[in-house]
Amino acid sequence: MPAESYERLITLLKRAHTLGTVAGLLGWDEQVNLPPDSADQRADQSALLAELQHASASAPEIGTLLTELEGRERGAGPAITPFFSEQSVVIREARKDYDRVVKLPAEFVAEKARLSSAAYHAWAAAKAKSDFSAFAPFLEKHLELAKQEAAYLGWGDRPYDYAIDKHDPGMTAAKITALFTELKTGLVPLVRAIAASPVKARTDIFHGFPVAEQHAFLREVTERLGFNYRRGRIDVSLHPFCEGAGADIRMTTRFDVDNPLDSLFSSIHETGHGLYEQGLPLAAQGTPLGQNAGMGVHESQSRLWENQVSRSRAFWAFFEPQFRAKFPTQLAAVSSEELYLAVNEVAPTLIRVDSDEVHYNLHVILRFEIERRLFSGELEVRDLPAAWNALSQELLGLTPAADKQGVLQDVHWSGGAFGYFPSYCLGNMMAAQLWFKVREVYPDLDADFAGGDFSRLLGWLRTNIHEQGRRYETGELVRRVTGEELTPKYLLRYLQERYAPLYLK
Ligand code: ZN
Repeated sequence: MPAESYERLITLLKRAHTLGTVAGLLGWDEQVNLPPDSADQRADQSALLAELQHASASAPEIGTLLTELEGRERGAGPAITPFFSEQSVVIREARKDYDRVVKLPAEFVAEKARLSSAAYHAWAAAKAKSDFSAFAPFLEKHLELAKQEAAYLGWGDRPYDYAIDKHDPGMTAAKITALFTELKTGLVPLVRAIAASPVKARTDIFHGFPVAEQHAFLREVTERLGFNYRRGRIDVSLHPFCEGAGADIRMTTRFDVDNPLDSLFSSIHETGHGLYEQGLPLAAQGTPLGQNAGMGVHESQSRLWENQVSRSRAFWAFFEPQFRAKFPTQLAAVSSEELYLAVNEVAPTLIRVDSDEVHYNLHVILRFEIERRLFSGELEVRDLPAAWNALSQELLGLTPAADKQGVLQDVHWSGGAFGYFPSYCLGNMMAAQLWFKVREVYPDLDADFAGGDFSRLLGWLRTNIHEQGRRYETGELVRRVTGEELTPKYLLRYLQERYAPLYLK
């Protein structure tokens, strides 16, 4: 009974997914609402839910159904079930997920969880003392487990490719090396020229922006971009994030009365993630067709709204009067050009999360290069600070004075999250490539934005990206939508067109 088997598979996948959404909600609540002394109870709740979720996602019945359906697919042949038919996509992707859950022994999963918890605390302590050597043994162990994990999944000869594929399906270290090399070659001269420019953005011109008004303004902006607040909300947390799926998207932001652009742009960034999740086909929620296509694609959506759209003159043509209406006294002495330059500030920093969109890619290239060498054995963990500092000087023109501003600045490696950083930069490239494509389709998009209308852009993204779910791997999706392989040339062109007129005139 193939139809019944397929329906049963969908039921089981949706059940596992639903448990995941409950866990996500608990995680959101932990960062937004949880009273300080309730953490232990929440830890118990989360642990139980993780157990239920694992049992649900690894149910032997899923494996049996997949094997049966895969057999039928093979029998049917490509002429009857094209590779990208809905059913084929669900079976192919569900197999990938299922293998990742069942091929890792329970002891291994528990060991990795224990290590991540210990490594997180070790990292925080090492960072406070700026002492990499205190964190190094944990990182070594994580590296070992990452290689072991790859071997369990059948990628023993290519562990870093496995780590990359987990975040961006189909991507490899070799492909990324080629993309990043080209990007770096174009980017470094631009960055050096801007650094030498007498034009400097001033961000110390903003003072005393009340949080309530900031909240009201970013709500107006994000709603106009297309976020559906009947299926989502925005709250406050220490670090902004976007959590949730389908009908319930929880975004967060943070507020600083002297830096209104920080909360505005981080909210727009999370809105890009939220719009993607809201645009995934609701009817397919819980199956791979209703899920996002990976980290890089996700990041392309957040970056496109945050950078290409919201740092543009057309965007500010519409929103500047509203911004001024909300904050008339605070902005009285700030000219339009000063405001626009502050929106497009470029200034080198050692810290990735504080970086502007031009330098950001260099921070990512640095981390990718370190990870690539670690996995290939060219670099030993103990030599990481020296390698980091040398790359930092080469790429950013800055050398960290201490490990906490260098190799210890990011939390990712304490959780063993290798292969995650490249997604940020792949997302930036993709965002720019989509941006040039959509403006080829709608050359007058700026006029829409200047009138406060973002619906044509959103509609195009809905059709071409959001509604595709996990149908295509990253590279295939880009090729289908833009007619070209993923390339850094559009990101370089975009950065040149945006920043040269401001800084290199
Ligand atoms: Zn993001």
